[in-house]
Amino acid sequence: MRRISIFGSTGSIGCSTLDLIGRQREAFQVVALTGGRNIEKLTEQARNFRPDIAVCAEEADLPALREALAGTGIEAAGGRSAILEAAGRPTDWAMSAIVGAAGLEPGLVSLRHGGVLALANKESLVCAGPLMMQTAARHGATILPVDSEHSAVFQALTGEQIETVERLIITASGGAFRDWPLERLATATAAQAATHPNWDMGQRITIDSASMFNKALELIEAHEYFGVEPARIEVLVHPESLVHAIVGFMDGGLIAHVGPHDMRHAIGFALNWPERRDVPVERLDFAAIGSLTFSAPDTERWPALRLAREVMEIGGLSGAAFNGAKERALDHFISGRIGFLRMAETVEKVLLKISSDRLGNPTLDLDMVRAMDEEARALVDEVVGFPSDAGRF
Ligand code: NAD
Ligand code: MG
Repeated sequence: MRRISIFGSTGSIGCSTLDLIGRQREAFQVVALTGGRNIEKLTEQARNFRPDIAVCAEEADLPALREALAGTGIEAAGGRSAILEAAGRPTDWAMSAIVGAAGLEPGLVSLRHGGVLALANKESLVCAGPLMMQTAARHGATILPVDSEHSAVFQALTGEQIETVERLIITASGGAFRDWPLERLATATAAQAATHPNWDMGQRITIDSASMFNKALELIEAHEYFGVEPARIEVLVHPESLVHAIVGFMDGGLIAHVGPHDMRHAIGFALNWPERRDVPVERLDFAAIGSLTFSAPDTERWPALRLAREVMEIGGLSGAAFNGAKERALDHFISGRIGFLRMAETVEKVLLKISSDRLGNPTLDLDMVRAMDEEARALVDEVVGFPSDAGRF
């Protein structure tokens, strides 16, 4: 039996992970499930999967969780420190699926007991890539990428030498506004941005797909995880979202990873790794699909991609600043305080407000990452003209 934990179990990735685990239940013993504020869902999952502990993100919700789990023998806990305590419980496999920089620390804590960390939380690598990779190396832990493009690259690299890689190409669907005229983008609402043509995901990543901030984060994620230099990592618009990534080698050969747009493939790959097992996703019928299309991304339409390249050039703490500013700008967009195009404008302004020495500071520890994240969020509030209440890490 493998011991597993899921951080962010009530979200889109968390639920898909439990869907797979439920199909080979006898193979797993669930140690911890952590959720956010959806106590009903967390309770339902806990009663079904019988973890040692179920944790909600807010202490205020703990009485409700306790009451709902009374008599089950499942420990209930609440708040950030409880999530970290649960993440510190040894497991063989853990899924990092909290959204945002809030997912960084549980992942880091989990890496310290070795084992496998399936990493959906791309923000961990964007904010603190070197810290994540070093922590894994120091404790003999393995990080497996769960982001579909990165899982695709990982799979294409099996049996290959990273030194022979000439280019990594990650694809982007183009999100909800791919075909909108540029002048209409300024009027886009959060509800419009929260619909994705292909993938069914959480609200925040879906909006990030429409603004290309998701792909911007993924460029940085690919650079940090695979150690490939930024100039060799490309983004390709591919509306069908069936080719997830293409790896080009020095002999001119390319290996593309193709699969249905269902995150259970990448999650299942990480869950079964290093083996492959049956995963209940659709089997593609290429004759029915007929054709696949590709085009270059329009950087005027999607300034987030240019900003990601600047961040990769600067390195150090710039990823933490970029992500923190993006998260806060997204909060303001979702609450209707700023328009769609102002997200990227605001993030760019914030990066310009922080000195390049500080952004590029290569000594990267958790406290510095956290401080940079908070500073960037507070600067977004300043730029947007919103009374400051810097987002919690
Ligand atoms: P989601 O919003 O559906 O779920 C997020 C989970 O984190 C929920 O359980 C929520 O309760 C919890 N959470 C939110 N804020 C928290 C906090 N402050 N403290 C503790 N828990 C908190 O998000 P998702 O779409 O499942 O995405 C999760 C992560 O996976 C993100 O980093 C996302 O970028 C990445 N990812 C998602 C997909 C996808 O298809 N959904 C694909 C690739 C990568
Ligand atoms: Mg992705």
